[in-house]
Amino acid sequence: MFPGAFDYRAPTSLDEVLELLREHGEEDKVLAGGQSLIPLLKLRLASPSLLVDIGRVPGLQGMARADGTLVVGARTRHVDVERASLPAGLEILQEAAPQISDPLVRNLGTIGGSLCHADPAGDWGSVAIALGAGLVLRSPRGERTVEASAFFQGPFTTALAADEVLTEIRFPVPAGPAAGTYLKLERKVGDFATVGVALQVEMDGGRVRRAGIGLTAVAPTNLRAQAAEDSLAGSELDDAAIVEAARLAAGAADPRDDIRGSAAYKRDVVRVFVQRGLRTLRQRLGEVGS
Ligand SMILES: Cc1cc2nc3c(=O)[nH]c(=O)nc-3n(C[C@H](O)[C@H](O)[C@H](O)COP(=O)(O)OP(=O)(O)OC[C@H]3O[C@@H](n4cnc5c(N)ncnc54)[C@H](O)[C@@H]3O)c2cc1C
Repeated sequence: MFPGAFDYRAPTSLDEVLELLREHGEEDKVLAGGQSLIPLLKLRLASPSLLVDIGRVPGLQGMARADGTLVVGARTRHVDVERASLPAGLEILQEAAPQISDPLVRNLGTIGGSLCHADPAGDWGSVAIALGAGLVLRSPRGERTVEASAFFQGPFTTALAADEVLTEIRFPVPAGPAAGTYLKLERKVGDFATVGVALQVEMDGGRVRRAGIGLTAVAPTNLRAQAAEDSLAGSELDDAAIVEAARLAAGAADPRDDIRGSAAYKRDVVRVFVQRGLRTLRQRLGEVGS
């Protein structure tokens, strides 16, 4: 399978990237790790006339602490997150990264590419939602930050305008005791999720100050289970609160029957994973506190 013809540019500064996006707008595509885009080109599901490779642009890769956040460059690879030393309370990033595909994909694919691709079965979207991440978008018109839950607008559709590039993802670093986990059901190692559940809980004085719940592959986008999050806030993360949050999260899911399972099965996996994950977090937080 061969892609259609396209021009290729590999700028060496962000300004050049923005200039190319300004000039070519709708006809171009940013190329990061190529792990989603190249297959789309080969299948001719995308036919851009220009690829703007951001691989040589400095400053888009790596992680740093700034203003109470962990700033992750958009071109940071999955494997870099897997191997990073992360601030306390953001362990979910390290738990999710090795669950993405296989080492071949993780060595090339990037967190920013995954978010911008916006596959509802992508794992990073749910993690970003659970952590309340801010996605920093740059264009010739300036910079704006979009909350992860507002970034995903439909299957493979995001808030990115044609002349915008995602430069970094800002994950708030929890101030108090916090823990997160990512549970993924896959048919075999390396597969996309049948169901994924990202959970983050932050405590204050023995009660939940903030809960974040992102769901993978059970809706047209990565989904924020907001009612379930709200139900946990202020609770002691007791069994009754956990069971109720799991019920609400399963109710928010809107999965489809497909080769990976029936809608009813997937909804029940959400319920079970939310319960299981929250009990794990309660235990971890207990260990942190003791
Ligand atoms: C065999 C296989 C298995 C996989 N399994 C999983 C899995 O289990 N879980 C999972 O989450 N993913 C999986 N993936 C997808 C993988 O995570 C990709 O790496 C990711 O979806 C895209 O990242 P990329 O850097 O390769 O982006 P690319 O393929 O280069 O780009 C993807 C899209 O994002 C746009 N884009 C990229 N970077 C930017 C940016 N900075 N600003 C604006 N637009 C940008 C591109 O224009 C393109 O539309 C799998 C892929 C393969 C090939």
